[in-house]
Amino acid sequence: MAKVIVAGGGVIGLCTAYYLNKSGHEVTIIDQGNLKEGTSFGNAGYICPSHFMPLASPGIIAQGLKWMLSSTSPFYIKPRLDMDLIKWGLTFWKRSGKSTMDKNIPPLHAILQLSRKLTTEMSEDLGNPFHMQEKGCLMLYKSATTEKHEIELAHEAAAFNIETQVLSAKEIQDLEPDVQVDVRGGVLYPMDAHLHPGELMRTLHQFLEKSGVVFQLSTTITGFEKQGRKVTKVLTDKGDFSVDEIVVATGSWLSSILKDLNIDMLLQAGKGYSMTFEQVERNLHYPSILVDDRVAMTPMGNDLRMGGTMEISGMESKMLTKRVESIYKAAKNYFPNLPVSFPSLDKVWYGLRPLSPDGLPYLGRHSKYDNLVISGGHAMLGISLAAGSGKLIDEIISGQSLSMDITAFDVER
Ligand SMILES: Cc1cc2nc3c(=O)[nH]c(=O)nc-3n(C[C@H](O)[C@H](O)[C@H](O)COP(=O)(O)OP(=O)(O)OC[C@H]3O[C@@H](n4cnc5c(N)ncnc54)[C@H](O)[C@@H]3O)c2cc1C
Repeated sequence: MAKVIVAGGGVIGLCTAYYLNKSGHEVTIIDQGNLKEGTSFGNAGYICPSHFMPLASPGIIAQGLKWMLSSTSPFYIKPRLDMDLIKWGLTFWKRSGKSTMDKNIPPLHAILQLSRKLTTEMSEDLGNPFHMQEKGCLMLYKSATTEKHEIELAHEAAAFNIETQVLSAKEIQDLEPDVQVDVRGGVLYPMDAHLHPGELMRTLHQFLEKSGVVFQLSTTITGFEKQGRKVTKVLTDKGDFSVDEIVVATGSWLSSILKDLNIDMLLQAGKGYSMTFEQVERNLHYPSILVDDRVAMTPMGNDLRMGGTMEISGMESKMLTKRVESIYKAAKNYFPNLPVSFPSLDKVWYGLRPLSPDGLPYLGRHSKYDNLVISGGHAMLGISLAAGSGKLIDEIISGQSLSMDITAFDVER
């Protein structure tokens, strides 16, 4: 059995450790934070096989450019002369054509399905204190154009055996008896699920610690010691750690950490915000995406989380208040009598989605080293794909046959 270091204790790192530990490996997780906050905690918590369409797809560039002109839109790129951003943007543009998208849909669909199944198994194993609910997700729309697009998507979903139900405004209102719903209609994806991501992280942390995984927290990885084709040590501000195998799962910090191993990986951080309202008197019953405004609404027990925006502005923590307000305004526009009020800005959370330029994750070994495995670039699907990614990485390290073909996720593509 191998001595494995997992660099990064986000949901990808923890789920990887979960499967490695089950296979009997000696696992240490190193994270610069304290595993109490970060991108894997405040997100919308969807497990969504419905999202089989990769981020890079036809029409996205034109839509993005239109959104760039408005300070309240859900998308923004901070203009800057940064070679990494320019290379990433050009690659995104090249891969958003129809033929690449058509090639990328089947592997994305396959890993979403694998992960969906494994997340249910994981919730059974861990006792589900993170309130995973398997009731589906609603795509709600207000405009005729969005309705047409969502119905077309529902037809494409059918080709992959993904069940959908196209619902009228009245049928949606019936599903949400406690709040007024002002929509044209919506599509329900019954196969989707949702959970409380912060509770999932806490549960995994506790479970792994009890199972013998070592947590080396508040420890920043500063570099690596290499001998020939092997990474022999992980260097940190708290000392050096020797390894048989290293898994790099550092989310939006993936490309910066890999530079020390002379690996160039295209990745940008996509900032998003969320606000969580506690003890909402009349809450939603279903998670829903307000498609015209790209806002996600997730009931979490008596609490309600709303989130959205995609800002490609590097690693900076600055919040763009107008975009945060737009999330709240969209929620009120769809659910006019929702009993919540705009919170003070110190209550607004943000996270950084690790965006690959084609919307597929990076999963697998790198050919430069014999003992380096990468798991990253999960973009807006990190919670949905964490269990599947963790299982596949364990299969690679344990030398087992893989649950699915991962050619499309090649870390050197
Ligand atoms: C608003 C919003 C809503 C979202 N909603 C959903 C959703 O509904 N469903 C879904 O599937 N996904 C969703 N996502 C995406 C999801 O949150 C991410 O894909 C996922 O959290 C990424 O996990 P990760 O483990 O790769 O990265 P992270 O959670 O960022 O973890 C990386 C870890 O690496 C550590 N690290 C980095 N550098 C170093 C270093 N040098 N030394 C030590 N440690 C280091 C960091 O401290 C961090 O803890 C959402 C994201 C946002 C922002």
